[in-house]
Amino acid sequence: MIDFNVPLFEVARNYDKCIACRVCERQCANLVHVFSKEAGKMVSDDSKCVDCQRCVCLCPTHALKIIPNENKFRENANWQQRYLTEIYKQAETGGVLLSSMGNPEPFPVYFDKILLNASQVTNPSIDPLREPMETKVFLGSKPQNVLRDEQGKIVTKTPVHLKLDLPIMFSAMSYGSISYNAHASLARAAEKTGTYYNTGEGGLHEDFYKYGKNTIVQVASGRFGVHKDYLNSGAAIEIKMGQGAKPGIGGHLPGAKIVGDVSKTRMIPEGSDAVSPAPHHDIYSIEDLRQLVYSIKEATDYKKPVIVKIAAVHNVAAIASGIARSGADIIAIDGFRGGTGAAPTRIRDNVGIPIELALAAVDSRLREEKIRDNVSLVCAGSIRCSADVVKAIALGADAVYIGSAALVAMGCHLCRTCNLGNCNWGIATQKPELVKRLNPDIASERLVNLLTGWNHEIQEMMGGMGINSIEALRGNRLMLRGVGLNEKELAVLGIKHAGE
Ligand code: SF4
Ligand code: SF4
Repeated sequence: MIDFNVPLFEVARNYDKCIACRVCERQCANLVHVFSKEAGKMVSDDSKCVDCQRCVCLCPTHALKIIPNENKFRENANWQQRYLTEIYKQAETGGVLLSSMGNPEPFPVYFDKILLNASQVTNPSIDPLREPMETKVFLGSKPQNVLRDEQGKIVTKTPVHLKLDLPIMFSAMSYGSISYNAHASLARAAEKTGTYYNTGEGGLHEDFYKYGKNTIVQVASGRFGVHKDYLNSGAAIEIKMGQGAKPGIGGHLPGAKIVGDVSKTRMIPEGSDAVSPAPHHDIYSIEDLRQLVYSIKEATDYKKPVIVKIAAVHNVAAIASGIARSGADIIAIDGFRGGTGAAPTRIRDNVGIPIELALAAVDSRLREEKIRDNVSLVCAGSIRCSADVVKAIALGADAVYIGSAALVAMGCHLCRTCNLGNCNWGIATQKPELVKRLNPDIASERLVNLLTGWNHEIQEMMGGMGINSIEALRGNRLMLRGVGLNEKELAVLGIKHAGE
């Protein structure tokens, strides 16, 4: 049978440099490289390459390059090569196309069209090395007013909250979609930096209960691994209503990945597909959501904040307004560039809206309705650097979740094939020989370094604006200016154009 597909990448091996050490052969779980006895040299099967760059990084003589295949179908502005290759694939398999990580399509990245302010002359900047700078954040609802007794002692009860030493948390990634060692790395880094990591929908491995005070435990529609001890083991509980990478649909972890501890932790039999339905079958209204929020609060003695995570979709502001009245303490909004272990390609690339617009719309709506302090807002969906964090907070977030950036810090090269389970970097895989490639001591240290570096940069940017606390930056859109945005975009973002 003719294979209509052409390899996406070409392995370029410099034979003057290659010493045939076979490191690339041992390192590639996709079996791209092999030593050919007949030819007496290394050869490659380009069709198997996913461009994870593992071989490039580990080749001791820097003999390898992975380059995009320059072979092009006849140029056609409408029928781009991508559509043809996808049709070939579906014509062969009859299946739904699957992908991983975030939406790679060239939609506008609004963070890149927003610039930050800096103090000059009349409003002095603050030097974060010499002056206090507060990056602590408390997430949860805030009291409307503070009452004191006759002795002046505060009697208002503080609602339950999460305390973060810096405004960044690790977003939900389930054990099963990522490896044991990746989870261990996130848990340790969260503990060291005074923040939180999130179990995702896969339950909590018994080894990680000890990190409970830095853990957010998730309850998704599949309810995998959810029981009373699980709910009580974390610092907060997140109800996942939606995910930016695949709004409107459920999750699917193939049976092949439900092995050993993954099956035990999820409380489902080995080899069975873990399919989370698209809706929670007990939630069809804000009142239903409120019931789940209060069931969880009841099960945890009202000691833990409840987060509701939603995908950024067209009417996100109205949805968030309802959630803010449901008893939830925190709303996490996940934009359409957010990562995932597996999503139908069509959904990932065509559903949802950019997080910047969603966040600004939600913050404005909650302020207009005077319920902004009912909840904290957490922004997620492709936060790539500390400037994105600062811009998100100025647009209205209290804190951000990072997922893909955390994986990249551990070694991920965004090859976008997590769904295949062959991650050569030991992150999105359950194969023991691959999992052990990720050393949690090293990976957690890299995560700590990333957060430490970003936190320094956040302080520098805030200091430059003459702002000395995250609280003062939150929703401070005067610190932002748009470049190249139209009137409508500026209006939704609630910011002025540069020069104004
Ligand atoms: S790792 Fe580098 S030097 Fe070793 S066989 Fe592969 S290409 Fe050659
Ligand atoms: S986690 Fe692994 S498989 Fe997934 S994108 Fe990163 S490198 Fe590729």
